[in-house]
Amino acid sequence: MINFKELANEHKTPLYIYDLDYMTKQYGDLKDAFKGRKSIMAYAVKSNSNLSIVKHFADLGSGADCVSIGEVRRAFLAGVPAYKIIFSGVGKSDDEIREAIEKDILYINVESEAELGRVELIAKELNSTSRISIRVNPNIDPQTHPYISTGLHDNKFGVELDTAKRMYIRANNSQYLDPVGIHFHIGSQLTELKPIYESAEIVADLVRSLSNIKIELKFFDIGGGLGVKYDDEITIAPYDYAQAILGTLKGLDLTVICEPGRFLTANAGYFLTKVLYEKQNGAKRFVVVDGAMNDLLRPSLYNAYHKIEVITDSESELSKADVVGPVCESGDFFAKDYQLPVLEHNDLLVVHSAGAYGFGMGSNYNTRGRSAEVALEDGKARLIRKRENFEDLIALEKDLLV
Ligand SMILES: *Cc1c(COP(=O)(O)O)cnc(C)c1O
Repeated sequence: MINFKELANEHKTPLYIYDLDYMTKQYGDLKDAFKGRKSIMAYAVKSNSNLSIVKHFADLGSGADCVSIGEVRRAFLAGVPAYKIIFSGVGKSDDEIREAIEKDILYINVESEAELGRVELIAKELNSTSRISIRVNPNIDPQTHPYISTGLHDNKFGVELDTAKRMYIRANNSQYLDPVGIHFHIGSQLTELKPIYESAEIVADLVRSLSNIKIELKFFDIGGGLGVKYDDEITIAPYDYAQAILGTLKGLDLTVICEPGRFLTANAGYFLTKVLYEKQNGAKRFVVVDGAMNDLLRPSLYNAYHKIEVITDSESELSKADVVGPVCESGDFFAKDYQLPVLEHNDLLVVHSAGAYGFGMGSNYNTRGRSAEVALEDGKARLIRKRENFEDLIALEKDLLV
């Protein structure tokens, strides 16, 4: 049982709280599912990029999947070894590519022919060789929210099979490129197994056809995307996930790379916010809280559901209310028509499943400092990010004021 009241007293609200023991358990479950096969877990840093969280996974033996050079730097700072760091993403700048090659990370996940050209050119300038993997878009509908679907041709991610093959041949013939892996990631919050193994099958076939022309890959990178329970979703068990993937790799000697984000962090996190007051507009009841869309964007961005737990002495009957923040946008809400008792000033709401794509998507909109973050481990709480204050927010502007 987490003592949210005490945490709110000590650290103030709004506040992010992460249960590291839960993250450890999720990591172990997934890692164990691939037992008996060479595998690397590469934690998807964007799901929760706090240095202490990345370090927690690094200490468990995890690598890191990064989507900007900033995330690569975080991974290094957190102690992830270079040979377990992957750099993915649909648009990488020359500077980012250069730094990734210089840092000698495991590989760069390339997402277009044009990008392959840039990587080759920069590796040549550095008189180096860049290990690469190519992100294949298997054109499979992952049956998830369109904003987090990435495996269809009308998404911007990856390249078609024919293009991928051509790119592998080109990379194999270049002295500056070393094609070592193949990658797919069809979407996030996946709850259906079928699109995953269909994609794996398509990609594994491409590995075989490359092997036939003497291009031998080492890494089969299955991306992330495992869904979690926010409400009453039926999710995929790690063991079933692993078996489905491994079933497509018969006869291939490949190290499986898995890039879980949400699966490891979502349900380890809580967003704690305080009730400011209630208000009624006609028939509509609102609970106004001190947290907002700049702290936790998922409800506004995806209309995502988050369970809300109430900490109050109120024993009134439940009625429907919208839980809204102070930001000047009608889209600033955490829940709509949620059953809540009558709430008092300073009652607490705990927004569940906030550990993934929570803090990281935060902003300073409305000149609001971002929340503090606290980690819980072995029954102890420790601050892992200070609350931003006004001085932090204006630091890069105030000396430029003329
Ligand atoms: C976002 C992302 C992940 C992690 O996705 P989750 O749904 O959080 O598991 C993994 N790999 C790549 C390439 C990504 O872009």
